[in-house]
Amino acid sequence: MINSIKTEEHIKLQNAVIQNVALPGLKDYQNLYIKREDLIHPAISGNKWYKLKYNLVEAERQGFSTLLTFGGAYSNHIYAVAAAGNLFGFKTIGIIRGEEHLPLNPTLDFASNNGMELHYVRRSEYRRKSYPEFLEKLKSKFGDVYIIPEGGSNDLAVKGASEIIENINFDFDLITLPCGTGGTLAGIIAGLKGEKQALGFSVLKGGSFLINNVKEHLISAKSEVYDNWSIILDYHFGGYAKISKELIEFINEFEVINGIQLDPVYTGKMMFGLADMIKKKLLDSTKIILSIHTGGLQGVEGMEPQIQKLLAK
Ligand SMILES: *Cc1c(COP(=O)(O)O)cnc(C)c1O
Repeated sequence: MINSIKTEEHIKLQNAVIQNVALPGLKDYQNLYIKREDLIHPAISGNKWYKLKYNLVEAERQGFSTLLTFGGAYSNHIYAVAAAGNLFGFKTIGIIRGEEHLPLNPTLDFASNNGMELHYVRRSEYRRKSYPEFLEKLKSKFGDVYIIPEGGSNDLAVKGASEIIENINFDFDLITLPCGTGGTLAGIIAGLKGEKQALGFSVLKGGSFLINNVKEHLISAKSEVYDNWSIILDYHFGGYAKISKELIEFINEFEVINGIQLDPVYTGKMMFGLADMIKKKLLDSTKIILSIHTGGLQGVEGMEPQIQKLLAK
């Protein structure tokens, strides 16, 4: 089954186009390009495919038929694991933070339609999701399952994410991306091998812990730690999945100018931060910047009521 990854799906999942984009409020600025990882697959989009790829290969190699993972009710990772399980023939179990709400939101509805078995756990319990005794409990409940951590960040994810920068036939100075766990950034750093610069934008409040996370991911994945990277902490908009009218208006204007949709949780915050830093001359505007569109558009539908409420203000 995974052999099919190497053929048609694999090719479809590997060629992200690069486009020149303009930034709202920066008429004369032309040095920004975007790598459309959001287009590599309709459901397993963006960085989540790269993070999953070698986990799927490993799960199959070890003879697992079921994948188990964790996430919030709007998680891009849950969505991608459900789709990948369906596409490559694994059963999937999603451990979802919080209580069940019916009808299912669009993310969980999709996951369920792709065969994912959903189990809800209280927030207090969910916090223990990486503790050995919690994982043992899951194994005794669900049998022999291949466990992928929340957000998909493990050594194999770092290895997969390092491939984002393979085959880039394009000369850039700086690569940028949004960071949740930092697993993808670690992969990018490993892939750059000390060349050029990488800049992550934390989408979490108090994201300074991400710097250590990235280092630990690199060490654990047997990469050098390097020093050609940093993480910008100033554009979280109050915290994970928190949004403002200014952010939504920026995203809408970006789409009008470029015909490219951004999501308000990850890519919108990165792009807003980039534009702001260029305006404030915190970034050298003569450098060629390549931003990764890490996907995440599936989550927009579920946030629409909140977005409309903000815009009506
Ligand atoms: C999950 C996700 C990220 C964050 O990736 P990490 O490896 O956890 O840092 C960024 N962008 C999008 C769209 C995502 O879904």
